[in-house]
Amino acid sequence: MQRLRPATAFQPQRRRLLGWGLAAAGLAAAGAAAPHLAAFATDAADFIRGPKVPDVPFTKVSDHVFVIYAADGFPTESNQGMMSNITAVKTAKGVVILDTGASVQIGEMAIRQLRKLTDQPVVAVFNSHYHGDHWLGNDAFVSAYGQDLPIYAMPHTREQILGATGTEWQQAMLKWTNQSSAGTRIVAPNRDVKHGDVFDFGDVTLRAHHYGTAHTPSDVCIEVVQDKFTYVGDVMMNRRIANMDDGSYPGSLAYMDKMEQAIPGSNWLPGHGHAGREVMAWQRELFAAIWEHAQQAARDMAGPDAAIAAAKADPRVASKAKETAGWDNNIGKYISLAYLEAEQKA
Ligand SMILES: [Zn+2]
Repeated sequence: MQRLRPATAFQPQRRRLLGWGLAAAGLAAAGAAAPHLAAFATDAADFIRGPKVPDVPFTKVSDHVFVIYAADGFPTESNQGMMSNITAVKTAKGVVILDTGASVQIGEMAIRQLRKLTDQPVVAVFNSHYHGDHWLGNDAFVSAYGQDLPIYAMPHTREQILGATGTEWQQAMLKWTNQSSAGTRIVAPNRDVKHGDVFDFGDVTLRAHHYGTAHTPSDVCIEVVQDKFTYVGDVMMNRRIANMDDGSYPGSLAYMDKMEQAIPGSNWLPGHGHAGREVMAWQRELFAAIWEHAQQAARDMAGPDAAIAAAKADPRVASKAKETAGWDNNIGKYISLAYLEAEQKA
């Protein structure tokens, strides 16, 4: 049995990466030993691997779309980083995966589930944005389907993953999961995608959408044209609180407006939470209320606490408190980021 030392610190980025309130608890826990790790070989870089992730079966949500829904919204030791959805699109030409999860172990779990669903191989992967819970599982897919497996993302997403941000997410996930994601390699996207790109998979057409900064500067959404089903990454969530450190409130509202114009009547599948036609309305109402109060407080130069108090008292916000995972720990920061953005724009 080999013990890992706690991962090295990355102080300069800590504030930004600890976008979620409960991450502080994960950091504290990461200092403890990780007795569940096993040693399999002699090369320290390769042989320390976190444990298998328990199976979560795919749920069919439309003719061609299947989702592994993550029950939790935040990474912890007990969920081993299982915090974001993994989507499979079954096509005549093979399976397309939309986001690969937060670790190699989660990617491997998804592949185990996929093999119960179909004998077809994975022929392409899309990464919606550069937050690690959406691409750290790439490692498992190239191991299973070859180094040349096309992995599509926007160029800025690839650059972030290849740069310091990619390593920071890899290290942060180790801390948050108390090393459960150990062994996960950074596998960056190898194909560029841009707004309007169309992909022909025989019976299924995928179309890429991008409308500026929303959750990050380079979110790509993937429309499954025949199913009127659109995977939106973290541009929208369903009863979850996003990490908005890299995002924009008015940008998110504008992005959603353009999505609705481009794909009217679509069903929206978020990276966190369940799919539904009402997902956009839920997210838009929350963002709109917070943004209005943030702008008002900024105009009054009243400070972030005033924005937080006013927004939390708004029924459009308050009504979502009970049903939303991680609300109490995160809503204050979520609103203060909106205030900072409003102040900058004022
Ligand atoms: Zn994200």
